[in-house]
Amino acid sequence: MEIKKKDIRALTKDQLRDFFVEEGDKAFRGNQVYEWLWNKGAHSFDDMTNLSKPTRQMLENNFVINHIKVDQMQRSTDGTIKNAVRLHDGLIVESVLIPTASRTTACVSSQVGCSLDCRFCATARLKRMRNLNPDEIFDQVVAIDNESRLYFNRPLSNIVFMGMGEPLMNYNNVLKAIDKITSPEGLGMSPKRITVSTSGVPKMIKKMADDEVKFKLAVSLHSAIDEIRTSIMPFNATFPLNDLREALQYWYAKTKNKITYEYVVWQGINDTKADVDALIQFCKFAPSKVNLIEYNPIDDGEFQQASNQAIDMYVSMLEKHHITVTVRRSRGKDIDAACGQLANKS
Ligand code: SF4
Repeated sequence: MEIKKKDIRALTKDQLRDFFVEEGDKAFRGNQVYEWLWNKGAHSFDDMTNLSKPTRQMLENNFVINHIKVDQMQRSTDGTIKNAVRLHDGLIVESVLIPTASRTTACVSSQVGCSLDCRFCATARLKRMRNLNPDEIFDQVVAIDNESRLYFNRPLSNIVFMGMGEPLMNYNNVLKAIDKITSPEGLGMSPKRITVSTSGVPKMIKKMADDEVKFKLAVSLHSAIDEIRTSIMPFNATFPLNDLREALQYWYAKTKNKITYEYVVWQGINDTKADVDALIQFCKFAPSKVNLIEYNPIDDGEFQQASNQAIDMYVSMLEKHHITVTVRRSRGKDIDAACGQLANKS
């Protein structure tokens, strides 16, 4: 009978240490293996050159290293890179490297497909197939860090969880991945350079506050009027704006961290003065800033970017109320790597 080998990266350092003790070896071998896996990015047990051959064979007999594989890499004319990443079971997710003059940002996926059903989003059409494991999230970051060093001569500087999936619906694995990314034994990145972007799951926002996480929070708001938000993000019927507001106030009271609202303005959907008024009111509940994001139409054209006048109205009204607002141009449109476009089309 064939024994199913375990994914070695699902083990904590203590579990690895215990494993070696049970095998009659020294506990510190667990530390060595852990360092190979998470700090040195070993792809096979043979890479672990400070272990004896019999030890490497013993690991090979018991475990697998389920590394992701970048199946296809596309480069946009603006420098953006999109990776189609193959997982060990053959499923594909996408992650994106976004370079600017001063930083390189990785936009990573947390689920294959998505559990939610935002009507403007290409990923929503894939439906959720499964959650990503912590190591699959970590590997996306490592792949982009390598590309950043190779093509831009600098390490990755920022990470946003804004790719495929709702990160708070895969909270434990996202947290474990961030733990590895920020740990000195992993990539040693500052949590302040990591943003988790959610469509707004109130219970989980409160949980993050209780867990005293150190990374930043962004919320895809898109409307501060329940009726409109529900029509474009149907789960808003279950988690209405009042619940979201209360959770965000709780977050700020506990963390003192400002919230970023991601917001797309669409023609005929949320481009009136009443929409801006509602957003201004919502921004008053907790210290926050607004990112107005350029929209990239997906096939059916149901959603269209609002006019420049509508965007200007948003900017001037928000600024008048002393709310920080930035207008974000989309990147990587020509390779379907822009916000809301990730749908495994490559
Ligand atoms: S916008 Fe985000 S949460 Fe909504 S369906 Fe797309 S991936 Fe899921």
